[in-house]
Amino acid sequence: MRLLLVEDDVMLASGIKLGLCGAGYAVDWVGSAERAEEVLAGESFDAAIFDIGLPGIDGLELTRRLRGRGLAMPMLILTARDALEDRVQGLDLGADDYMAKPFELPELLARLRALLRRSQATTSAVLGFGPLKLDSANRQASANGQLIELGPREWTVMEYLLVHAPKPASKEKLLAALTGWDKEITPNAIEVYISRLRGKLEPHGVGLRSIRGFGDRLELVGTPPIGTGGAASK
Ligand code: CA
Repeated sequence: MRLLLVEDDVMLASGIKLGLCGAGYAVDWVGSAERAEEVLAGESFDAAIFDIGLPGIDGLELTRRLRGRGLAMPMLILTARDALEDRVQGLDLGADDYMAKPFELPELLARLRALLRRSQATTSAVLGFGPLKLDSANRQASANGQLIELGPREWTVMEYLLVHAPKPASKEKLLAALTGWDKEITPNAIEVYISRLRGKLEPHGVGLRSIRGFGDRLELVGTPPIGTGGAASK
């Protein structure tokens, strides 16, 4: 299980990280919400722990943004002992649980286990399209039982396409799914990911069809396009 820890207090962060690693989790630690967004744009985690008090964007806004992007990963927020308002707001914004500081490590571990159990039960659902399967829990893509190797950003594009299939995904949407606030990815890079995915999917009978003005969508190769209406007839 891989966790993302967002905490600007170095002492506290290293203590939490040590405890989590000791319990067998892989932990990536960043000191700001901005950095967290960058990391989450390209990589996936089983759960995240956010401190609310961060420099720049705070943990509440981070929670709101990530949920707004459709990120389903369990999120636990760290709040000050008496900050009832923060806890309520955090939960309303989509956090799954909170810990009031200071806390004991065994309690954090128990809460994480509970969150992970719940999320694995609900999000281990495998996304599918025709012969294509995307198993988020095990991070495995396959078609007809054959594994398909996907880079992290290809994975994100694929996941977006599958979640929204059979609707097309515009470049803007894919860009947003990939980057958050990271400006490194360009629309041209999206083209590259789409074209690589196309190459990986076509041998398995799944195509990526570009619909002008709308974007790309998954399609079973050899079946007539459905539901594109007037959009594709131009
Ligand atoms: Ca802090």
